[in-house]
Amino acid sequence: MVFESLADKLQQTFKKLRGRGKLSEDDVADALKEVRMALLEADVNFKVVKDLIAKIKERAVGQEVLESLTPAQHVIKIVNEELTALMGGTQSRIAIASRPPTVIMLVGLQGAGKTTTAGKLAHLLKRQGKRPLMVAADIYRPAAIKQLEVLGENLEIPVFTMGQENPVTIAKKAVDQALMMARDIVIIDTAGRLHINEELMNELKSIKQTVKPHEILLVVDSMTGQDAVNVAESFNNDLGIDGIILTKLDGDARGGAALSIKAVTGQPIKFAGMGEKLDALEPFHPDRMASRILG
Ligand code: GDP
Repeated sequence: MVFESLADKLQQTFKKLRGRGKLSEDDVADALKEVRMALLEADVNFKVVKDLIAKIKERAVGQEVLESLTPAQHVIKIVNEELTALMGGTQSRIAIASRPPTVIMLVGLQGAGKTTTAGKLAHLLKRQGKRPLMVAADIYRPAAIKQLEVLGENLEIPVFTMGQENPVTIAKKAVDQALMMARDIVIIDTAGRLHINEELMNELKSIKQTVKPHEILLVVDSMTGQDAVNVAESFNNDLGIDGIILTKLDGDARGGAALSIKAVTGQPIKFAGMGEKLDALEPFHPDRMASRILG
């Protein structure tokens, strides 16, 4: 990660500083410059960077540094807390319906990792004692249906398919089926496209209206940086989403999407994809991500 040395760099900027007590604007200027550069290099949204720097500055300047901390530690602590807050503060869980089944609709662009994530999420929930049913509603890419069936076989989780039938019908029938099979979670893998278009949105809106999902989770590829943030903003404005699953965080050298997406869209990251394997999906913890970023 670009950030890996940020904590070290911050330490460096405070080397010259002898005294304790309050920090002046001059004292923290270099440190703030380092933070700003690291964030911009990480492809964090410009406005998000600006707001964040202002907040860190407000908290760092003119405040008494705790006896037990060096000025560097003091500022690192503030940066850590502000990065955590930026990503939502605490872990955001998915809503579980009081009357099963809980219906989770996965949406996103092609290649983001939606189908793989359907399998990973089903696996994670199964390990938590749930009884998921996966639903193949991506009818335009025949390989997607097969891909989900293979995942289901490997994970020993049932998959509901109706071939190329209308996705709205598939989703509706799948929920009926879940009730009959006493499956308490329904995970719908919807169609993706290369780009957002009206046809896709209309289809997703029809599914949403018909099955009234408890959670609409957008799957986005963190490697695409600010594009991921723009995609999330569009889906949230057009369709309305309840949270984000950020995939490929294992390969993301910059972390910009993780840092900006909550601030820009208002929607929290609920899970992070950390690899291609089926157990590589983790609940997203803003504080752990902030610590990982600071290094
Ligand atoms: P979809 O078109 O959105 O359904 O995408 P797929 O589920 O087919 O995934 C596209 C590619 O991304 C596949 O090669 C997956 O193995 C890969 N992938 C998905 N999630 C992750 C992840 O968290 N980390 C890594 N490294 N690869 C992932």
